[in-house]
Amino acid sequence: MVDLVGQYEKIKPEVDAALMEVISTAAFINGPQVKAFEQELAAYLKVKHVIGCANGTDGLQVAMMALGLKPGDEVITASFTFVATVEVLALLGLVPVFADVLPGTFNLDPADVARKVTPRTKAIVPVHLFGQSADMDAMLAIAREYNLFVVEDACQSIGADHTGANGKRKSGTLGDIGATSFFPSKNLGCYGDGGALFTNDDELAMKIRRVCNHGSRERYFHETIGVNSRLDSLQAAVLRIKLRHLDGYARARNAAAAEYDNAFGPLEGIDIPGRSVFSNHVFHQYTLRVGGGRRNALKKHLEAQGIPSMVYYPVPCHLQEAYKSDRFPAGSLPITESLAHEVLSLPMSTELDREQLQHITQAVKEFNNK
Ligand SMILES: *Cc1c(COP(=O)(O)O)cnc(C)c1O
Repeated sequence: MVDLVGQYEKIKPEVDAALMEVISTAAFINGPQVKAFEQELAAYLKVKHVIGCANGTDGLQVAMMALGLKPGDEVITASFTFVATVEVLALLGLVPVFADVLPGTFNLDPADVARKVTPRTKAIVPVHLFGQSADMDAMLAIAREYNLFVVEDACQSIGADHTGANGKRKSGTLGDIGATSFFPSKNLGCYGDGGALFTNDDELAMKIRRVCNHGSRERYFHETIGVNSRLDSLQAAVLRIKLRHLDGYARARNAAAAEYDNAFGPLEGIDIPGRSVFSNHVFHQYTLRVGGGRRNALKKHLEAQGIPSMVYYPVPCHLQEAYKSDRFPAGSLPITESLAHEVLSLPMSTELDREQLQHITQAVKEFNNK
């Protein structure tokens, strides 16, 4: 699905030198690379604070802890997401309340979010799925009306621009806190696990750093219960280099998406990904909707031709074994449930060439003509 080796080959001298520098100085934990990367990413995102952490899941968990959310507090989020979004809520004793998504963009439906607000609601977690920002103006308006926090799950959307009431802003920097992941296959991926939190609020930034550092600001003095969650220096060194290429990577992904759109736009029974009017797309995934119960057949057809494809996500969170108990009331989420049977993500990377794209588009067209 992604070509991380091909991508590495193009930046190998820079990356190798940066890694060797960390190793030769042995500044593995909280080394100067971490601080430098946090500052460079903050400048790129035009956000006041970036705080590195160990992975995107931790980022979301730390956000909830820094906001002081308490067991029983309700948090409205998507069921059509990677499980991490929901898992951290459940771990903290919070109650995930699922809202449905829009069929075109796969992002939270503001009308359904508003319907799910109760007196116990404390936060909304919009997931910017597949590389496109959710409707943040609508989310922030609901949050203002009911006095809720907004934590953005920006694990798939780093670099995307949201254009709305506040002008053009980077995805993940509009709510109280944003969290992202540097898992290798993410748009800004490191060479292992990594993550970060974003905020414009000085007080929240202090609390986030404290939670990440065992609830401590001064060594061996613990003011709150925290966790150990750090971005390590080797990963930060890689990320500093890849950050310089992030916009170029997004252009490469968009070029591949444009080829796909041209090929699949006219096809009957297959829908290309919908574009949001308030966000550009950085195509973490290029995801088709295949109607008529033919999704799995298309996946098999591609497989037979050596083309990988993936179903993100085959089972929505509210129907997962772990989350279908009375503790997690879901109600009905018709769009989410139908998407689980229709979506298929095609190969998407910074390294797809014309020949590969042609092979893939031909295979899909051939299937659709059968
Ligand atoms: C990848 C991802 C996460 C988790 O990130 P990790 O770094 O793997 O912990 C959370 N939410 C979404 C939407 C993701 O895609």
